[in-house]
Amino acid sequence: MKLTVWGAAQQVTGSMHLLEVNNYKILIDCGLDYENNVNLIENINFPFLPSEIDLVVLTHAHIDHSGNLPTLVRLGFEGQILCTPPTADLTQLLLADSVNIFLGKLKKKPFKRRSKKHHHDQQQQPLYLQKHVMDTTDRIVTIGFNKPFQIREDIEIQFIPTGHLLGAAAVHFKITEAGKTKTIAFTGDIGRKNYPVLINPENLPETDFLVTESTYGGRLHTATESIEETLIKVIKETCINQPGRLIIPAFSVGRTQSLVYTLNKIFSKNLLPPVPVFVDSPMAIMATDIYRKHHKYVNEDARSFYQKNGDEFEFANLSYVKELKESKEISNHFEPCIIISSAGMLEGGRIQDHLFYNIQNFYATILFIGYCAKNTLGYRLLRGDAVVRLRGRDLSVFATIKKTDQLSGHADQNGIMEYIKAIPKEGLKKIFLVHGEQESMLALQSALKDDGYEAVIPEKGMIFEL
Ligand SMILES: [Zn+2]
Repeated sequence: MKLTVWGAAQQVTGSMHLLEVNNYKILIDCGLDYENNVNLIENINFPFLPSEIDLVVLTHAHIDHSGNLPTLVRLGFEGQILCTPPTADLTQLLLADSVNIFLGKLKKKPFKRRSKKHHHDQQQQPLYLQKHVMDTTDRIVTIGFNKPFQIREDIEIQFIPTGHLLGAAAVHFKITEAGKTKTIAFTGDIGRKNYPVLINPENLPETDFLVTESTYGGRLHTATESIEETLIKVIKETCINQPGRLIIPAFSVGRTQSLVYTLNKIFSKNLLPPVPVFVDSPMAIMATDIYRKHHKYVNEDARSFYQKNGDEFEFANLSYVKELKESKEISNHFEPCIIISSAGMLEGGRIQDHLFYNIQNFYATILFIGYCAKNTLGYRLLRGDAVVRLRGRDLSVFATIKKTDQLSGHADQNGIMEYIKAIPKEGLKKIFLVHGEQESMLALQSALKDDGYEAVIPEKGMIFEL
């Protein structure tokens, strides 16, 4: 078999790997590359003919793994896309949303009629439209976790849970070539143990070759307390000891559901008085419905909570805010409250309104629960900027800025090492590190080397005969 690393090579986004077995071409993930301000439209330039790909296997729904699928379909891919049932629904939701983001960005950059240079300029076009998203989701075929599935006589695959996001899986291939069986696995993204709502990453069976993510391959999560303890502390400080508002920027898909469930546990145990909680995001409402639909994919803790208390994503003092009008009304709510809204890095979304109204409030706290990329407003606030620009105005920051990494969705170096060490070592011939910044990859490579593993950091386009 032949492996070509076509994406997330020495970077985080744009996951895409090509596996060729006896002339059958399988693409593992087809993510959007939005690294270092790559013009999104450049994602149209596939290094192969999309019509030549026979099959796509998708590890999970995040856009950096799924976001270029509609382009692949638009440009001629006619095969099936295999993934787990929750991944199918979450992918549909996220792809539809990414079309809105493209169109929103285009609105901000009006077409310059007079400029000849911009005539027929590809950059003025969205990468794909809702029609292409529908054409893509029509091609999806779902397979549950841990069910070996025979694609052809010589290719068997299995989805093995990795936590990380509902439905997220590593893909394990059993390949037969010239009478010999070899195995290769692609981790997709590896989640963390004991993460609210999500199941733990499960061990891979015997694997000869491993293509693994390395996002946090160079760091260790620092938290010494649980997310429940952190939230109780911050809510007490902000909303009980003070008449303040706690604002939590959170991605609508995944992180919001884990946060809501944790708050539900806190309030249902009466560990705090019932402070009103607003989840201000139509996307979060839709994502939560998908979590409810695929309830058998949540972890044991969430399932037993459901048995005793009912819906883990509902409680008396929680309101989901759908309409923009209602969202604006939250600003008139002067009692202490908790507001969960997106985008997580504060670039766009309704969170910007809440920030605008609260950034100069001494009693407000903004709690970051996820990574903020450079050049985002979230990054600047975390850096401690005293003044930030919002809605064209420079505003002094009087709110308290806090951060926790307990809800980060990726395993740290220890987590990745543990995941790899669980694979029977005798068989594991080579590890390919992808989906990480160079620094993280080098750190992980050296940790693996110390333990006697061979790990390579491939460049984009590198081909490996395995
Ligand atoms: Zn992911």
